[in-house]
Parts: sequence; structure tokens; C-alpha cells
Amino acid sequence: MKIVVCIKQVPASNDAKIDPETKRIVREGSKAIVNPFDLYAIEEALAIKERTGGEIIALTMGPEKAKSALKEALSMGVDRAILLSDRAFGGSDTWATSYALAKAIETIGDVELILCGKQAIDGDTAQVGPGIAEKLNARQAANVWKVEKIEEHSVTVKRINERGWDLVRLKYPALLTVVKDINTPRIPKLRDALIAEKAEIPVWKPWDIGTDPDLIGLRNSPTQVVRTAPPAARNAVTLKIDCKPEEASDRFVKELLKRKLI
Ligand SMILES: Cc1cc2nc3c(=O)[nH]c(=O)nc-3n(C[C@H](O)[C@H](O)[C@H](O)COP(=O)(O)OP(=O)(O)OC[C@H]3O[C@@H](n4cnc5c(N)ncnc54)[C@H](O)[C@@H]3O)c2cc1C
Repeated sequence: MKIVVCIKQVPASNDAKIDPETKRIVREGSKAIVNPFDLYAIEEALAIKERTGGEIIALTMGPEKAKSALKEALSMGVDRAILLSDRAFGGSDTWATSYALAKAIETIGDVELILCGKQAIDGDTAQVGPGIAEKLNARQAANVWKVEKIEEHSVTVKRINERGWDLVRLKYPALLTVVKDINTPRIPKLRDALIAEKAEIPVWKPWDIGTDPDLIGLRNSPTQVVRTAPPAARNAVTLKIDCKPEEASDRFVKELLKRKLI
């Protein structure tokens, strides 16, 4: 089975800056990590491959430094990695990002299963996975927390819904977005991390995957982020209350009410 795992490099959460002009995240100079949800997608791909055999390809679109995210995927055990990187891809919204990733998956060829994280912790839209599936005309299930069965022509999964879960069977090609409950991502061994560090990662350009130049990048992205604002900082308050234990909860609530904290 050929599996593609889409991973995104994101700023470490307390280190994100927004460009006031473009309203896009400034990635240069900030500490970067693999989007945490994508580690679960990698782990699930590895677990599936242990059952079925095959090949896992990690794919990301991002700047040159996103190679380090791909190296982390290699150190966990994926077979190969591809970086989509070019100025022409820069500033793509979820629509243009899904289009470029779908074109890359088509170029890889004969992909049966595509795994994504549930959402990225920076853009947070949860649109890219479903967007890729739409563009590839693949079946999709979002918020998957269990892969029940892998068969020759289909995968059966449990996905979360508002009331509980659905059991769904999807014919290949299929795309799954996964939640944290699905597994526990492995920690790479030092030896594998050192080998991955030296790996040569191929960089694909728009012409390698046949993207239409009018459908990628900031200029061709239909989403306009009009305004962004950081959440208001909350002041920490320490309350010290001298009283008997049985009076503590009453006193605590009264103090909070007095200070208009609840
Ligand atoms: C403040 C802010 C607001 C934004 N709002 C919007 C908006 O409303 N609409 C919009 O279209 N764009 C928006 N963007 C741009 C958005 O961050 C990018 O389009 C981004 O590349 C993809 O969206 P996401 O981060 O929401 O990914 P999600 O859709 O949340 O990611 C889901 C999964 O898709 C895969 N994936 C996502 N990106 C990549 C990638 N580059 N390479 C490989 N796999 C990937 C991963 O598996 C990931 O777990 C915003 C950006 C900022 C900074």
C-alpha cells in the first residue's frame, strides 16, 4: 500500500508572529516544530504499514527549513520525503495549499491512502485535508480516532461525530484526518535521528507537479484575512484565604465574586 502523510511545519505555539500587511504567519526566524496532530498521522501510517507492507511518503509544502520536519518524519520511520518549495507557492491559503498538495500526490502516483492531522495549530482551519480529498476526488473521513480494518480495496474507520462516532468504510483512494486519541506517536531512536539528519530531501517546484501558475500563491488565494488580533492577556491572581477547610469553598467563591472574577 502506498501512503502519503501530509505534514506541516508550524511555529512553536508561544513564538508566532503575524505580518501586519499580509496577515500571514512570519515563519522566518521563529522556532518551528512538526504540527502535533501530524505526528499522530505519521504514527498511524507506520502502524498500517506494519500490517500491510508498502511505502510511506511524507509530504510538506513550506520554506527550505521545513526539511527539518520531513527529517523528523524520516527518523520516525517513513520511507521517503518530499518538500514542495518555491516562492510561487508562498502565501497560499488553504484552497491553494490543498491544490498544490493534491497535484504533488497525483505526481507521486498510485497513492491509496492519504493521512493528515485534524488541523494545524497555527492556521487552525482544518480545511487542507478535506480540500486535498475534494481535488483528488478521493473519499474522506475527518476526525478519525480508530482505523478498524485495512482491506485490499477499502479502509474502515471510526470517526467522531457530534453525538459519538460513525463506522465508515472508504474505498481507495481515501483521505483520513486523525485526532490525538488514535495512537501514541513513537519517539525516534537517536541512531535513526542521526541517519535522517543526513538524508537528501528532493525539492519539487511548481513545474515538477504541473500546477497552474494562476492557482497558487498569495495572489491567487481566494481567502482574505481581514484582521488578526492576539487574545487579550489575562492577569493571574493569587488568593490567600485563612479559614477552616469546610469554609474554604464558600469563602473562595465570595472572594471571586467580590473581585468580579466570575
Ligand atoms: C491568522 C491566520 C489566519 C488564517 N486564516 C485563514 C483562513 O481563514 N482561510 C485560509 O484559507 N487560510 C488562512 N490562513 C492561511 C493558512 O494558515 C494556510 O493556508 C495554511 O497553509 C493551511 O491552513 P491551516 O494551517 O489552517 O491547515 P489545516 O487545514 O488546519 O491543516 C490540516 C492538515 O493539513 C495538512 N497540511 C496543512 N498545511 C500543510 C502544508 N503546508 N503541507 C503539508 N500538509 C499540510 C496537515 O496534515 C494538517 O494537519 C491563515 C493564516 C493565518 C496566519
